[in-house]
Amino acid sequence: MDCPNQKQNQMICNCTYPCGKKGICCQCVSYHRSRNELPACYFPAAAEKTYDRSLANYVRLFQQGKI
Ligand code: SF4
Repeated sequence: MDCPNQKQNQMICNCTYPCGKKGICCQCVSYHRSRNELPACYFPAAAEKTYDRSLANYVRLFQQGKI
């Protein structure tokens, strides 16, 4: 099923990884949740570029005041 919001979502998506789920947020969240991760949009640009989307990385950045 096509996502009616895909193009609109892609315009605000900060993910730099080449991925077929870009703009299909339900698939993106589901994929990363299954891996104990968060989607790119939870991370600031510098952290997003590392592709470390783990919850541990998110908590570390939060504790460092970077989020
Ligand atoms: S955050 Fe992950 S699933 Fe979502 S578009 Fe980027 S690489 Fe793909």
